[in-house]
Amino acid sequence: MTATMPQRVTAITLPERSVFIDGSFREVDGATAAVVNPATEETIATVASVGAEIVESVLAAARRGFETWSRTSVSDRADALDRIADAMERHGAELAAIATSEIGMPIRDARAGQVDLPVRVLRSTAAIAREYPWDRRDGAGSSIVREAAGVVLAITPWNFPVHQIITKLAPALAAGCSIILKPAELTPLTALFVAALCDEAGIPRGVVNVVTGRGSVLGEALLQSRGYEVVTFTGSLAVGRHIGAVAGDAIVRATLELGGKSPAIVLADADLQTAVETTVRNCFVNAGQKCNAPTRLLVPRERTDEAAQIAARVAESYVIGDPTKESTTMGPMVSAAQRDIVSGFLGDAAEQGARIVTGGERDRWNRGFFISPAIVSNASRDSRIAVDEVFGPVLTVLGYDGEADAVTLANDSEYGLSAEVWSADPGKASAVARQIRAGQVRINGVRTPALPVSPFGGYKRSGLGRELGVFALDEFVEIKAVLGDPILDAGTGADAAVNVASGPVVRA
Ligand code: NDP
Repeated sequence: MTATMPQRVTAITLPERSVFIDGSFREVDGATAAVVNPATEETIATVASVGAEIVESVLAAARRGFETWSRTSVSDRADALDRIADAMERHGAELAAIATSEIGMPIRDARAGQVDLPVRVLRSTAAIAREYPWDRRDGAGSSIVREAAGVVLAITPWNFPVHQIITKLAPALAAGCSIILKPAELTPLTALFVAALCDEAGIPRGVVNVVTGRGSVLGEALLQSRGYEVVTFTGSLAVGRHIGAVAGDAIVRATLELGGKSPAIVLADADLQTAVETTVRNCFVNAGQKCNAPTRLLVPRERTDEAAQIAARVAESYVIGDPTKESTTMGPMVSAAQRDIVSGFLGDAAEQGARIVTGGERDRWNRGFFISPAIVSNASRDSRIAVDEVFGPVLTVLGYDGEADAVTLANDSEYGLSAEVWSADPGKASAVARQIRAGQVRINGVRTPALPVSPFGGYKRSGLGRELGVFALDEFVEIKAVLGDPILDAGTGADAAVNVASGPVVRA
């Protein structure tokens, strides 16, 4: 299995049937899994599919990794994150190509979302770690020490495979934790590539471990081992619930980033054309396989037809096909199963009286798990298409009667991951944003800022905890109060203590 761009002399070659444990790739016997390119349906690699037999050794490696890494200085750890970012930049073309062949993401989007963005997350986390209040005095004169929580079990999904790994790995490593990563079965190559980048960046043995296998087998075995102090998960509500239950029973921390059914409220005074166009494009990033996609477009009832027509024109403008081409704007679904889920939703919606204004076509392509993006209108508010996460290129247009109804409809969801508000009046947009029960609200189509430090995570069934920025670091530290602490009074302070910032001790 070669993950190379032929012209690059620094190319990384991933060994076949191997896991990354204790600082090196180890070939393992036993079950394997094929990695299939969803655009071509061809097998592009064969990877190890390990199970419970690996758990003891990977936990032991991660525990040893933790013992050393948690004793390093913050500046060393922040520098290490910068070195991983450097390695990712050096190998950016290879990594983007792997992401495209694993999930069918258009290559331009893969470069932006699976290389540039994770690099910025690594660098911003390093900067935050250097400034983080690792060791502070509180108002009572006690030292408040933040220290690494322990071994982290990270279970990640396939839809933004590199970004979702790095949003967990960067703050975990910055905090001084070691990590065991179990990526999605569909995307092992990007995960193993990240392991190779960590190796190239000189991350010590046992600090980063990557094992590949099925969620129901390997994921479950790791989860039930209880040999970790934090479990951090991104994926479906059903699996998230299970992980949260096990973590609750084991009394270990769980951060859960689950699904969404995010609303985009277009207020009556907004420019409908711009709002609808931008919302559709935002919704259809990665063929709609995005947890914070704005999949419910809420418009004044009398403008639903107009909005649906605008949305349909945008949907029909997508260049769907070979994701390796620069001109392609939408690739396939990640798998046949995911495409069938999308078709099933559209079939149900039509049966329940909704109108499929455009999309849902599958026969245009001879191979690959393609489906054309769909716009749905006339759906009832409580129908499946209006309530459940589709995880595909489907946007549902819903009408509302007045601003209060728009807010009620936006909040009428078990999810609360993200939302969008459109208005010509900044004050009104801001006021409506504050009434939405969601972890992130975007006004007038603003995109993720270049500095990815704003917290990301859900209210309600969208999850627990936050990713990105200082909030992410908080998830991986324990807080210790040292009362009557003589070390700070003696002036030896942060440099002398284990796992504290190298800067001066600040008295709060
Ligand atoms: P899952 O929640 O099943 O998978 C997410 C991760 O959890 C994968 O690594 C998976 O491994 C692992 N996993 C599965 N079962 C267990 C278990 N019992 N113990 C430990 N780990 C486990 O999501 P899917 O990929 O199956 O997607 C299903 C739906 O989830 C999508 O249609 C979408 O609605 C939603 N989803 C939401 C995401 C988000 O960003 N919020 C991301 C991806 C999906 P494996 O892949 O090997 O099964």
